[in-house]
Amino acid sequence: MGEVTAIDTASRSVSVEGMGDIDYEHLIVASGATHSYFGNDAWARHAPGLKTLQDAFELRRRVLLAFEHAERETDESLRRAWLTFVVIGAGVIGVELAGTLAEIARHTLSGEFRRFDTRTARVLLLEGGERVLPAFPGELPERARLQLEELGVEVRTGARVTAVTEGGVTIAENGGATEIQARTMMWAAGVAASALGATLNTSLDRAGRVVVNADLSLPGHPEVSVIGDLAHMVCDGKPVPGVSPATKQMGRRGAARQDQAIGHAGVAGMVVCPHLFSDWFPQSHHRDARLGMGIFFIPTLCAHRDRRMEERTPKLKI
Ligand SMILES: Cc1cc2nc3c(=O)[nH]c(=O)nc-3n(C[C@H](O)[C@H](O)[C@H](O)COP(=O)(O)OP(=O)(O)OC[C@H]3O[C@@H](n4cnc5c(N)ncnc54)[C@H](O)[C@@H]3O)c2cc1C
Repeated sequence: MGEVTAIDTASRSVSVEGMGDIDYEHLIVASGATHSYFGNDAWARHAPGLKTLQDAFELRRRVLLAFEHAERETDESLRRAWLTFVVIGAGVIGVELAGTLAEIARHTLSGEFRRFDTRTARVLLLEGGERVLPAFPGELPERARLQLEELGVEVRTGARVTAVTEGGVTIAENGGATEIQARTMMWAAGVAASALGATLNTSLDRAGRVVVNADLSLPGHPEVSVIGDLAHMVCDGKPVPGVSPATKQMGRRGAARQDQAIGHAGVAGMVVCPHLFSDWFPQSHHRDARLGMGIFFIPTLCAHRDRRMEERTPKLKI
């Protein structure tokens, strides 16, 4: 276990914190992605994102504490603020978080507090673009929006967040600024590739993902493969989405490449095209959302959905 701080493709070595440099002949880079606050890193404290298990525990702590504070609060406007949950960004994670929060408020915690009805909690999903799930095709975004609204989520598109503080968020919408008093905010608006990609000295896309060749190799460096969320791979003219079935298949392909390079029998690699994910959402969301505290069991849900996706996702051999 070690933190890689840089990769030098010229000298073929990786620098590992506390361990010095390690030379390689073949390298697979899979350091994934993290949150991006678009230069507003101070917002992270007030609106954490969900990436790791630790993040999930922190979000759970904040959500449960918000309900506890609301129970103790005697000032009605402050109680409303404690009972207002804001999710920023309506990509897949934002949509899942908002749906799950609504389920928690309306079902999981219903009847657990004496001084207020948890079903009155307000869950807002804010999206700067014109629709939820902007990367999804056809009618899926609209269907997702309708399902969220059925769950009780207030979906606001065209609402760009301009400030996040301890007391809430400010949004620019319809040419004006609106302040929303809230105590629990969650960030799901931006993803940036791991900083390790930048040390590869190669082309990156806008999110910092490494632009790879069709076989996942690094341009000019066949001995290096980049896979998973860190890789910008194009299939049928569209970028392959950052989802686990794509990552697993890239992993197999990347391993097969390196295996062949060192003279072992190769394993057939496959990759999934983006449009094959069109049925990923929202049907699966609704089922999982009924688990109520779903976000707190992200790994289980991922594995479960991952299996379903793999079972029904057609594969394209490359
Ligand atoms: C909340 C959430 C829900 C998701 N739900 C789904 C889902 O339902 N279905 C689905 O298909 N996909 C889902 N995804 C996406 C899926 O998790 C990713 O596509 C997949 O994990 C990407 O795998 P990866 O190996 O590229 O990166 P990661 O899984 O992010 O792994 C990267 C690893 O590299 C390590 N690392 C990073 N930098 C360094 C460094 N410098 N040195 C050493 N180690 C480093 C990180 O600590 C991490 O362990 C979800 C993602 C999130 C965040």
